[in-house]
Formats: sequence, C-alpha cells, structure tokens
Amino acid sequence: MSKLKFGARIGILGGGQLGRMLAGAAAKLGFDVSIYCPEADAPASRVAGESVRAGYNQLDRVLAWAQTCDAITYEFENVPVSTVGHLIRNGQIVRPGLKALEMSQDRIREKTFLRSCAIPTAEFFAIQCGDDIGPALTQLGGAGLLKTCSDGYDGKGQSRIAAGDDDEAIFRALGSRPCVLEGLVPFRCEVSVIAARGLQGDIVCYDIPENIHKDGILKRSTVPAALTHNIMQDAFRAASRLVETLDYVGVLALEFFVLPDGRLIANEFAPRVHNSGHWTVEACLTGQFEQHIRAVAGWSLGSVERTLDVEMENVLGEDLDNLDDNMPATASLTLYGKRDALRGRKIGHWVRLNGSI
Ligand code: AMP
Repeated sequence: MSKLKFGARIGILGGGQLGRMLAGAAAKLGFDVSIYCPEADAPASRVAGESVRAGYNQLDRVLAWAQTCDAITYEFENVPVSTVGHLIRNGQIVRPGLKALEMSQDRIREKTFLRSCAIPTAEFFAIQCGDDIGPALTQLGGAGLLKTCSDGYDGKGQSRIAAGDDDEAIFRALGSRPCVLEGLVPFRCEVSVIAARGLQGDIVCYDIPENIHKDGILKRSTVPAALTHNIMQDAFRAASRLVETLDYVGVLALEFFVLPDGRLIANEFAPRVHNSGHWTVEACLTGQFEQHIRAVAGWSLGSVERTLDVEMENVLGEDLDNLDDNMPATASLTLYGKRDALRGRKIGHWVRLNGSI
C-alpha cells in the first residue's frame, strides 16, 4: 500500500488533453510529471516537466522511463495491456492496474464483464464475418448497431444496420474486423457516473451528468441530470460494484442509457478521467483530475461536493472561429493546445456556471 511522498514523480502514459489536464492537477498537488507518448509536440508534453517520446510497444524504453517515476497512470484505454503488464511484472506501480484495461479494450469482453457485475447491457452478438450479421439481426428484431470490438471512439468504428442492408459491405467498411452487433436501445436520455476509488477501497461518485451526443461525439453535459433519487442510487451502486470488482484505483466513468421506465442499461466504461466529468473542475471541491491524481498517489480522496449547477459543452475544430459568439459570458474556457483544429475533433470545452445551489 504505497503512498507517494510530497514532490514525488508521476508518469502518465499518453499525451492527449486528458494527460494535459492530469499533469496540471498533479502539478497543483506538488508532484513532478513525466509524459510518455509516441507523438511529437503532444498537448500533455507541453505542460509537463519532462516528456519522453517513444512507442508504447518499446518495452525497454517504457520500463526505463517508468523506473524514473514513483507511480504510473494512463490517460487513454488503448495503452497495450502487454506494456502495462510488463511494467507491473517489473515492480512498477501502475494505477489503475491491468484488469480495467483488459476489460475495456474489447467491447464483448466489456459487456460480458459488466453483466457479471449485475450491470445490464444492450443485447449483443459477436460478429466474426458478414454472414454472422443476418441471424443476429433477426434476433434483434431487424435493426442494430454494428461496432468494431476495439479501437472505436467518438462514434467511429460503428454503423447502424437493418434487415435488407448489404451486411458484407458494412462489415468491410468497418475493416472486416471482429465486431459486436448491439440491439438499439430506445433510451430516454444518456447519463454517466464519474466514480473514484482510493487505494484503501473508499469510493466516491460525483453528481450525475446528462449527456447529449451529436454524430456519436459528446456535445453537452448538464448537471444535475433529471433523474429520480432511485435511479441515481441504482447508477451509483452499479458504478461502485464495477470499481470494486476491478479493484480499481483512480477515476472511472460508466456510461448509461436510461430507459423510459427508469431502468439503466450500461453502454461502456472508460478506465480514466472522462469528458463528461470536465465540469467537476469548476463545480466541485475536488475536480476529477485532482481526484485521479490523489488516488494514484495513494492519498485520501477529496470531497465531490458540488457547489454549482453547470453545463459543459465541447468545442470542436469547426467551432473555433465562432467561439466568441457562441460561448456564454459566464463560461470558463479550457483549450487543449492541439496544433491543428480538425473538424469533428475535440479541441476544448467550456463550462457554464448556472448559479450556486
Ligand atoms: P459508443 O461509441 O458506444 O460510446 O456510442 C456512441 C453513441 O452512440 C452513444 O453515446 C449513443 O448515443 C449511441 N449508441 C451507442 N450504442 C447504442 C445502442 N446500442 N443503442 C442506441 N444508441 C447507441
């Protein structure tokens, strides 16, 4: 049960915006930060004291880097399991460990695991080839969502599919890779639980945001979500079971569909800080990035008390030119320092504070 000393050094695998905000939070708590990522000039590298540029599969490089740090964390879920396993086998502290990565990198494994934690998911079928799609679609009532098992994000790597479509062509368009065919969930809204578990097993959950997606990308999170007390408690209990079963240390996000009758269907979980939790920085005593760093350091978790009603909206590459016109005057803006503002890619977010509660 090692607890990091003041001024220790935290290594972050991944150089994106989440790494950047984690590095800022770590610096706020007095830690030194080193980023490890393959990209040059990455958003996180430019705010950390040190950055090493090398591939995740270069096991000697990654271990040598990790040995200069007191604890390692990751800011994205596609860090190779073999890399993290190598670090752990060689005595490095990696929080949150291996199991959450293993479970979240493959959609079928993830849904099977969620179900084993008594967390319902959409109905799903494993798809290995185009011919598997027809019979599965029949069982789903003629329509579904075909998703690649791995590497999908922000609505990429998925396609709606219905009886009569060209199954083979759709499967090919997704790269002819193992897929999952999910039933379409007739949800009333989408919400997420941002949970944190400390090294001693203590668990806290932030208030639940309602999340609106556009073209598969999160557009807006609003807090509080319009949910009954009972639904919120169900969501908190599910997230708590998940982090406990994973023996998780750090912040994790569990995304749900809410059915018209209030039942919760889990979509997926992210073993990291999450876009739908960005508002916690402005609206809660302890933001999600600081919370994650506290957990990684083995320190006690901070209060998740929320002092404001808030709305968070993502800024995409195409929004940059009209940002001044569209952002409310009472908003707090965060930009990620990406060198190119690509269409459809997140480059920042703003948080509108809607008054104290
Ligand atoms: P995902 O890539 O799984 O996070 O999906 C992105 C978005 O697509 C979700 O936030 C939903 O808005 C929608 N979506 C994903 N899976 C389903 C489903 N099984 N039924 C209905 N909508 C879905």
